Amino acid sequence: MAIHETSAHGVVGDASLQELEESLRGELIRPSDPRYDEARAVWNGPIDKHPAAIVRCAGVADVRHAVEFARSQDLLVAVRGGKHSLPGFSTCDGGLVIDLGGMKGMRVDPAARTAQAQAGLTWSEFDHESQAFGLATTGGLVSTTGIAGFTLGGGIGWLMRSCGLTCDNLLSADLVSADGELVHASADENQELFWGLRGGGGNFGIVTGFEYRLHPVGPVLMAGPVFYRGDRAAEILRFYREFTSSLPDEATTLLNLTNAPPAPFLPDEIHGKPVCVLVGVYNGPVAEGERVLAPMRELGDPVADLMGPIPYVAMQSLLDALYPAGGSNYFKAGYMEEISDASIETMVEQHRAMSSPMSEIHVHHVGGAVARVPDSETAFGNRSADFVLNILGRTPDSNGFDEAVQWARDCYDALEPQTAGGTYTNFMSAGDDRLKEAYGQEKYDRLVALKDRYDPTNLFRLNQNIAPSAGA
Ligand SMILES: Cc1cc2nc3c(=O)[nH]c(=O)nc-3n(C[C@H](O)[C@H](O)[C@H](O)COP(=O)(O)OP(=O)(O)OC[C@H]3O[C@@H](n4cnc5c(N)ncnc54)[C@H](O)[C@@H]3O)c2cc1C
Repeated sequence: MAIHETSAHGVVGDASLQELEESLRGELIRPSDPRYDEARAVWNGPIDKHPAAIVRCAGVADVRHAVEFARSQDLLVAVRGGKHSLPGFSTCDGGLVIDLGGMKGMRVDPAARTAQAQAGLTWSEFDHESQAFGLATTGGLVSTTGIAGFTLGGGIGWLMRSCGLTCDNLLSADLVSADGELVHASADENQELFWGLRGGGGNFGIVTGFEYRLHPVGPVLMAGPVFYRGDRAAEILRFYREFTSSLPDEATTLLNLTNAPPAPFLPDEIHGKPVCVLVGVYNGPVAEGERVLAPMRELGDPVADLMGPIPYVAMQSLLDALYPAGGSNYFKAGYMEEISDASIETMVEQHRAMSSPMSEIHVHHVGGAVARVPDSETAFGNRSADFVLNILGRTPDSNGFDEAVQWARDCYDALEPQTAGGTYTNFMSAGDDRLKEAYGQEKYDRLVALKDRYDPTNLFRLNQNIAPSAGA
C-alpha cells in the first residue's frame, strides 16, 4: 500500500484516500493527478507546499466528510476560500487541504438587502451578484481576494467608513466544527461564536456560508487614484493628515507611497520612479463625491488624475492587475492614531530606501462607521485608530524578495514608535508573532475560551492560531 507522509501529524494511505473520494460529491486531487500542481498553488508565490490531497468541496456534506476524515487520520488541515493568505495558511505539507473555492452559490434578497453567500466566492463574484441589484457590502481592494478569510479576519475596503468592516455586515454564518457538526451563529444563536467569527479568523471551524447585510451602492460612484511625483511625498502626507481630519463617512481614502507601474495611463518617463498616490471612493451621489474628493485632485501638477465617475465593480477590480497571483509578497502592518510629523519624515525616508519598485507603504484612513461599532461587539482588534499602516515588500518573483522583506521589516521598525501597537490579523505575514497584541489580552482570553469549546484539539491550526488552553 502506498503511504504519503511528510507531515508531523498522521500518515494517509491510498485506500483511505479512496474511501474519502467515494464519500464526496466534489473531487479529491492527489499528488499523482495531472491537476495537482495547479490545485496546490496559492496566491503568494513563495509558498510552495505539497499536501497529501486536496478536497475540492462541492457542498457542506463534502466539508463534513473531509473534516471527519482529517480528524480520524490525525491529518494536518488547511482550509481555503480565495487562497490569498499571506503566510500561506491555505496549504500545507503532507496534510489535507479542504478547498471551498468551488462553492460559489449566492442568493441576494433585494427587498431585505441581505445576501447568502457560499464560502468559495471571491469579491468580484460577490460584487457581480449584489451590484445587479445596486447593492454591496464592504469588500476587498483587490477583487480576486476570497470573501471567507477576508470576512473572518475583519475586512477593510472602500466602503468601510460608510458601511463598516465586512465583519460588521455579517448577519450569520454556518460553520462545520472540529467534530463535524453544523453550527449556526448569529446575534440570536451561538452568540459567543458569532462574536469570535467577526475578527477571530478560521480558528473555530470551517464556515460554509455567510449571510451579509447589503447597502445601496452606486452603481456609479466618484472614485479613483490621483498620482503625484514621489518627491512631493512629505507635502502630500501633510495634506492627507489635514484632509482626513474632516472627511464625511461616505469617503474612504488611501495614500500609497510606491513607484509608478509601467501602465499606459501613466507617462513613460515616470515608469519605475517614486510616486505618491491618493485614492478615494465616495459612496454617495457622484456630484457630492466630486466636491468632497476635489481637494485630492487640486494639489497641482498631478502626474495623472484618474478620478472620475466609475462603476463600483470597476473600482473594485481597478487594482487587480497590480496584484497578480504568483508574485512574492510580504506585508507588515500596524495601527496609527495620527499621521505625526515624525511618521511623515520616516515614511519619506523609507520610500526613498525601497529596494523593489513594487513595494508600497499604504496608509488607510479608517474611523467613520468602523469606529462607531462598540469595541466589545466583535473580536476585531482595533477600531479606534484612525489609520491602518501596511508596509508591502513585493517583487514579481523570488529575485530581490529577501531584500524587499528586509526593507519592509526595517520600514516597520522605523515607524513602530509612531504606531498604536497591535496589528490587523489579515495583514500578518509569516514570522509575525504579534497575535496577542493584535487582539489585546481580554479579547484573546475570550477567543481561547471559544477555541476550547469548538476546537479543543486545535484541528484548525493553520491560521492566526489561538491555541486552546490544553496547548494542542
Ligand atoms: C492581494 C491582496 C489584497 C488584499 N486586500 C485586502 C483588503 O483590501 N482588505 C483586507 O481587509 N484584507 C486584504 N487582504 C488580506 C486578506 O483579507 C487575507 O489574505 C484573507 O485571508 C484572504 O481570504 P481568502 O479567503 O482569499 O484566503 P485563504 O487563503 O483561502 O484563507 C485564508 C485563511 O482564512 C481561513 N479561512 C478561509 N476560508 C475559510 C472558511 N471557509 N472557514 C474558516 N476559515 C477559513 C483559513 O484560516 C485560511 O488559512 C488582501 C490580501 C491580498 C493577498
